[in-house]
Amino acid sequence: MPQYETVVGLEIHVELATATKVFCGCTTAFGGEQNTHVCPVCMGLPGALPVLNRQAVEYAVRAGLALNCNITRNAVFDRKHYFYPDLPKAFQISQLYLPLCTDGWVEVFGKRVRIREIHMEEDAGKLVHDPWTDSTLVDFNRCGVPLIEIVTQPDMRTPEETVETVRQIRAALSMLGVSDCKMQEGSLRVDVNLSVRPMGSTALGTRTEMKNINSLKSIGRAVAGETARQIEQIELGRPIIQQTRRWDDNKNASMAMRSKEDAHDYRYFPEPDLAPLSLSDEWIESRRAALPELPEQKRVRYPAEFGLSAYDTDILVSEKTLCELFERTAAICGKPKDAANWIMGEILAALKERGESPDQLTLAPEALARIITLQSGGEINRNAARQTLTAALAGETSDVDEYIKANQLAMVGDASALMEIVKQVINADPDSDAAYRSGKEKVFGFLMGQAMRALKGKGDPGRLKELLKQGLG
Ligand code: ADP
Ligand code: MG
Ligand code: ZN
Repeated sequence: MPQYETVVGLEIHVELATATKVFCGCTTAFGGEQNTHVCPVCMGLPGALPVLNRQAVEYAVRAGLALNCNITRNAVFDRKHYFYPDLPKAFQISQLYLPLCTDGWVEVFGKRVRIREIHMEEDAGKLVHDPWTDSTLVDFNRCGVPLIEIVTQPDMRTPEETVETVRQIRAALSMLGVSDCKMQEGSLRVDVNLSVRPMGSTALGTRTEMKNINSLKSIGRAVAGETARQIEQIELGRPIIQQTRRWDDNKNASMAMRSKEDAHDYRYFPEPDLAPLSLSDEWIESRRAALPELPEQKRVRYPAEFGLSAYDTDILVSEKTLCELFERTAAICGKPKDAANWIMGEILAALKERGESPDQLTLAPEALARIITLQSGGEINRNAARQTLTAALAGETSDVDEYIKANQLAMVGDASALMEIVKQVINADPDSDAAYRSGKEKVFGFLMGQAMRALKGKGDPGRLKELLKQGLG
């Protein structure tokens, strides 16, 4: 039996985080009343003309620069024709011949996955099934939201490489702030093109395309599952049919949807209502200079500057909010390792427990920094730190010091308060004094434990020990 190699290429649709749509002034806000974020332009009414959103172009250029692409100075928009109820114009404004960005790459496990192009286009509306009337309704609020489509070369070979490529691209876009990149809400949607071929062959096999896979985990499973299906077909002597398939994660299998269309089916032609772009070198260079520090740079800097592990670094740099919380907390309290540990531990666990994603994190870096400072200075113990952090994460408090005071979480270091406890403990156990003096060291440990218990674990252990010795002496 011949060995097979999997070949994967990705098409990734990303909604840009502009305030308004790409060709009109309607809001892009998510979740409004149906068909309220619409106007004649995005509804495709006769005579309405598109006006290009400058911010959308800037975001798309930023993405292209961060993903090492060349920027096309005179990119052109094209009409892609097809009928679908969520597309009122019966064409989508997209880019075929002269896309905005070309020939980029992203580094994945030390190798380059090439990006063929990034083009701009508009999103379609949403079909909503109404169970009451058993009919399908359409919501045009999303119609005209700016998208970029990132198209890779068929450079991935395994489920792991595929998932990691999406993670890397997502991390870069997140850091750029050009999209909220929420896969579960559809702001980042991945189509997986996949073929197999005998190991050693360089020709590409016939591929299938699995549309809109909505989590990283499902992407990995889809690559593995579709690989197995195609190999089985070949082994049975059946042809692979070029088609669009739907990955069903529950069934762990892909289903045929339709035969794959070709570009010429769409009757593309240049959009006559929009002039070609005209981007100057100066403007593009100014955009390059304004790029924030990217994940690949942070990946080098965090271990070198802060001594973080590669694992922790990788988790932090996958999310803008985590990086910001980490960097700002470390800058305030000067304890980067502690900051990373709290984020990797309690904070991610709390998010997971609430089913939230890191971009919903509202914890102020000042609060985390204060907790770290108090704990490392011995003013609160680990349990108190954890309790305070939990309260801050849940939005129950914004003032760490006040919370610690109100809940009596501070360590007791005050000598007279500690001495009071020591006396109580010794008086409660009159024999212990004599036992200690007759040389029973174990008694000392027991009394320490009693005192600590009385202090609910918040006694300063060093001072307590001293005072207990004094008290027994
Ligand atoms: P289409 O125009 O049908 O969308 P493209 O040529 O634009 O096709 O390719 C779409 C995606 O499919 C790209 O990511 C590309 O890398 C990938 N791809 C193309 N051919 C193959 C193949 N034989 N096997 C795997 N992926 C492929
Ligand atoms: Mg395509
Ligand atoms: Zn509109």
